[in-house]
Amino acid sequence: MARVLVLGGGFGGIAAATRLRWRLGPNDRVTLVDRRSEFVMGLRKTWAVVGSHRLRDGARSLATLRSRGIEVVEGTVEAVDPAGLRVSVDGEWLAADALVVALGADQVPGAIPGLVEHGINVWDRDLATRGHDALAGMRSGRLLIGVFGLPYACPPGPFELALLAKELLDRRAATVSVAVFGPMPIALPVVGPTESAKVDAILEAAGITFHRGHAAIEVTPGTVRFSDDTTLPFDVLFGIPPHRCPALLVDAGLAVPGGWVSVNPTTLETGFRGVYAIGDCTIIKLANGLALPKAGVFAEAEGYVAAERIADEIAGRASSATFAGEGVCYAEVGEGRAAAVQGRFLADPPGVSIAQPSAEAVASKAAFEADRLTGWFGS
Ligand SMILES: Cc1cc2nc3c(=O)[nH]c(=O)nc-3n(C[C@H](O)[C@H](O)[C@H](O)COP(=O)(O)OP(=O)(O)OC[C@H]3O[C@@H](n4cnc5c(N)ncnc54)[C@H](O)[C@@H]3O)c2cc1C
Repeated sequence: MARVLVLGGGFGGIAAATRLRWRLGPNDRVTLVDRRSEFVMGLRKTWAVVGSHRLRDGARSLATLRSRGIEVVEGTVEAVDPAGLRVSVDGEWLAADALVVALGADQVPGAIPGLVEHGINVWDRDLATRGHDALAGMRSGRLLIGVFGLPYACPPGPFELALLAKELLDRRAATVSVAVFGPMPIALPVVGPTESAKVDAILEAAGITFHRGHAAIEVTPGTVRFSDDTTLPFDVLFGIPPHRCPALLVDAGLAVPGGWVSVNPTTLETGFRGVYAIGDCTIIKLANGLALPKAGVFAEAEGYVAAERIADEIAGRASSATFAGEGVCYAEVGEGRAAAVQGRFLADPPGVSIAQPSAEAVASKAAFEADRLTGWFGS
């Protein structure tokens, strides 16, 4: 009898746990640990802020996975001992034959002075309602959407939020200017300058300003200050806070301070035997020197690969499961249309493109969520 511990019940962890349950024998144990009781996709946060869909309609209880034979532990992972293949959860050490580390990225708004006090972290599902209320209350003034550090989850997300918010405000005849800023040199560095220019064109057509190369260092009431001492004013500030690798993974020796968990890009193995890491807590360098974007679609695909490899290892088989770095996400641009951002990220050079916005892509985005919720939770 083998036991696999999956740390984190987000996109990657659920994918890994469900695939492990399917692949392992009935006497083998699959244990999923998360400090939260529910899963909700990131895309619901933007929908909740602009009020197009409710968060709770996309929330699923992790406990549902128990009916599929997955042990679900609601608790906090406090420490990982990768050499000893054990994990401390709420003070109790759990041992395993293999570990899948899928703890995501920590968001640290506190790293920017004043951001917690004067901005709203719209990447935090618990603050989506605050974001929605702030937007609903705007009749005039300036909405500023800021990226406060690189990398961050869902690179097209801030632009999507700006476009949907602007559409909503215009429909209400509110005289609100909408701008986005971030430290990146172009809107979407990972797609390259030619494809990224398509984002600029869409923003420009919607009357949204993008302030590139703006590294924020401080927020004071109504003002964001940047490293070159310039400032931008706001009435409402939506902040995407700096993201960091969970400190416990640094303490475990899985990541260096200030970095992310390094993995074999195709097998998701870490430097420790039997320990795999997937999703937002990892870094995978691409042939162009940039990093694989932090996206659920990759965390999921990585989760399946890690699960397949662990199952093969337990069965004593050679494994051929590999991560290809292929994926698509759908960024809404308003007027009932979305643009599919798709690519082969591990190719040399990476081939990434942004398709012409269409209504079909909005339907594909809804199906992306529905298919996974049904596949993982049954509904
Ligand atoms: C607004 C927004 C829109 C997005 N849209 C898309 C999209 O359209 N398509 C797409 O592919 N991606 C999208 N993403 C990105 C996507 O949500 C993330 O990349 C994805 O969730 C990463 O998966 P993960 O499994 O690595 O981490 P997560 O899904 O973040 O899961 C990590 C889990 O670990 C748990 N955890 C963390 N620390 C501990 C601990 N110490 N103890 C116990 N549990 C712990 C957390 O509670 C969490 O459930 C979006 C993100 C945002 C914010």
